[in-house]
Amino acid sequence: MDHTQKSILGPRLFVIAALAVAAWAMVYKTGVATSDEAGIVLHLPEEVADWRGVDLLFCPNRECGGQFFPAQLADPSTCPRCGSPLGNMNWAERSMLPADTGLVRKYYSRPGGRDDLHATIVLSGDDRSSIHRPQVCMTAAGNEITEERVIRIPLAGRDQPLEVMVMDMVKPVQREDGTPAIYPSYYAYWFVGKDRETASHIVRMVWMAYDRIFHGVSHRWAYIALSGGRVPGSGAHLQTIADFASQLHPALLKPE
Ligand SMILES: [Zn+2]
Repeated sequence: MDHTQKSILGPRLFVIAALAVAAWAMVYKTGVATSDEAGIVLHLPEEVADWRGVDLLFCPNRECGGQFFPAQLADPSTCPRCGSPLGNMNWAERSMLPADTGLVRKYYSRPGGRDDLHATIVLSGDDRSSIHRPQVCMTAAGNEITEERVIRIPLAGRDQPLEVMVMDMVKPVQREDGTPAIYPSYYAYWFVGKDRETASHIVRMVWMAYDRIFHGVSHRWAYIALSGGRVPGSGAHLQTIADFASQLHPALLKPE
């Protein structure tokens, strides 16, 4: 083996070995302290630039699937259709996420109802399994992902841009008259851990393993997701995401 080959193989072997150790550490948590420290606040502001946010309530009953704004309801604690207790998770989230998962969400729109979107923060609970690869959930919900890319959003007061993964999706739906249609939408997200931020699920997994192995801690990671409709063939939603995320980002930072 000549020297060149060796120098390429060396780092590769190191990465493979590191991943093997990481995989082992992920399975056997022995000696790893869980930490309650999160990298962000679990709260969404009422206002983000000229967007106004309102809460959403969901019925946990799968057959019902009710979704309401609190202002619509005389009693915001109970589903007016089926009587189930309302909460901030829909049935899929309630069935898939561990009970101690933190979740907040708001529905935002600009004056005139423009650029409306849903913002969600999911904060992992004690067993750290609350955060999945979002692609899995989206396709399980019947969406087809047509494009995926990372956009880099400039932030005021920081040299490094915020990187956000944006998935363009289409979903076959039925109109009220029963004719088939396609609903084009987007789902954008990034992950935040203590002193860490990434748009990549894999990078997040590597950071988690690194912190377990070298610092002996497992922090609570969160992900922030923005979703809404889009116009097919247009990139206008990317600007909406950039405008919203750049204004939301500072509001999520923990007070020092
Ligand atoms: Zn209901």
